Amino acid sequence: HDYSKEDIFRIVEEEDVEFIRLQFTDIFGVLKNVAITSSQLQKALDNKCMFDGSALEGIVRFEESDMYLHPDLNTFEIFPWRPQQGRVARFICDVYKTDGTPFEGDPRYILKKVLKEADEMGYTFNVGPECEFFLFHTDDDGLPTTITHEKAGYFDLGPSDRAENVRRDMILTLEDMGFEIESSHHETAPAQHEIDFKYDEALATADNLMTFKLTVKTIAQRHGLHATFMPKPTMNSCGSGMHVNMSLADKDTGRDIFDRTDGKLGLSEDAYHFIAGLMKHMKAITAIANPLVNSYKRMVPGFEAPLYIAWSATNRSPLIRIPASRGQSTRIELRSPDPTANPYLTLAVCLAAGLDGIKNKLAAPSGIDCNIFDMTDDERKFVGIDSLPVDLYEALQCLREDKFIMNVLGPHVSKKYLEAKEQEWNSYRRQVTQWELDEYLNKY
Ligand code: ADP
Ligand code: MG
Ligand code: MG
Ligand code: MG
Ligand code: MG
Repeated sequence: HDYSKEDIFRIVEEEDVEFIRLQFTDIFGVLKNVAITSSQLQKALDNKCMFDGSALEGIVRFEESDMYLHPDLNTFEIFPWRPQQGRVARFICDVYKTDGTPFEGDPRYILKKVLKEADEMGYTFNVGPECEFFLFHTDDDGLPTTITHEKAGYFDLGPSDRAENVRRDMILTLEDMGFEIESSHHETAPAQHEIDFKYDEALATADNLMTFKLTVKTIAQRHGLHATFMPKPTMNSCGSGMHVNMSLADKDTGRDIFDRTDGKLGLSEDAYHFIAGLMKHMKAITAIANPLVNSYKRMVPGFEAPLYIAWSATNRSPLIRIPASRGQSTRIELRSPDPTANPYLTLAVCLAAGLDGIKNKLAAPSGIDCNIFDMTDDERKFVGIDSLPVDLYEALQCLREDKFIMNVLGPHVSKKYLEAKEQEWNSYRRQVTQWELDEYLNKY
């Protein structure tokens, strides 16, 4: 959209919008909002709506910190699932301090900062995500379970795919909200699904991901199901990932600059530099792209998730894949992120790493043409293939050590993020699990 304030007033009037949600995303990737009535629209559009900015840190504080929400007019959207009279609409907002400057703790601001740098280099950053999720039953109290009656697998269809109508409903709703849905299918695990929407400029994609998850969860609930983006809800099947497809376009012509007909594998030098930058900062990026204790239960041998820092143009298994299409679809696919990652922060660190590669002309190692999972540890060591962090603790240490990525996040977000995530890790590692009891209680 390209809305003016007048457009917004007109739509609110014509569509009988009564409530307006002012949305923002906290640093842990959770969508938040305050609702106003349309009588307060003028105030909101004048950037005068205040809220407690400490909400961005996902914690309740004793001291409230007053901040302003600046609605991004282009993100205005009516929720199709709410009543048709007295309708509900939303804006995605930027967060500003009382002195009129952007708040450094706002993830959307962190992404905008890196996008500005890309813009100054002459680039538009295009991103297309592939978001996977599970649809589970709820119990008698309406609480989520990990139960499903479904046994379908990769690309299966009805009647074994029991959620065809749920996905259909999700897609129609997303289309109502302006999404261009490219494809959808049943995923590998029972009750696991994927819906892919068309790539867009990174800020729009990050916004879209927040809207996507809200919509999927809302429509699932309407069908009596619980949609979860938790990376690994069931032990013996694949977890949910969120492959991130990335390309840089010339900001004037729109031409994909990773594409180069006479380049090696049809890729430009800058594509290789971008890959090299991603690989250089991959361990620190992992702390952002795989943010939960549970994220690392997805990245274990025997399933499809990547474990090693390598790239390939021929094999589907490595961390970074170059899909076969060229021209305007030339892209770099990062396969490690999962859908619980904060999309603003994840795209910010990925772009910054790629641009670091381009600026410093970093050289990508050779691509891997065999299945890395078939290699022994020694073979991988011999060809210099490093591993991704194996748990949240290791990832956080890697983040702390990567001054470049810490700097992209800025002092505020990096400090709050590390504090909260280290606390999460400490809370987890105190647990005595059923696995330990089964394994040790009797034996020792
Ligand atoms: P896969 O083969 O990995 O399953 P999909 O077809 O499911 O891939 O998803 C591909 C994603 O890549 C889509 O979101 C698509 O819009 C996106 N995409 C296509 N071209 C580009 C591009 N040039 N830059 C960024 N994303 C792109
Ligand atoms: Mg208050
Ligand atoms: Mg896909
Ligand atoms: Mg998939
Ligand atoms: Mg993919």
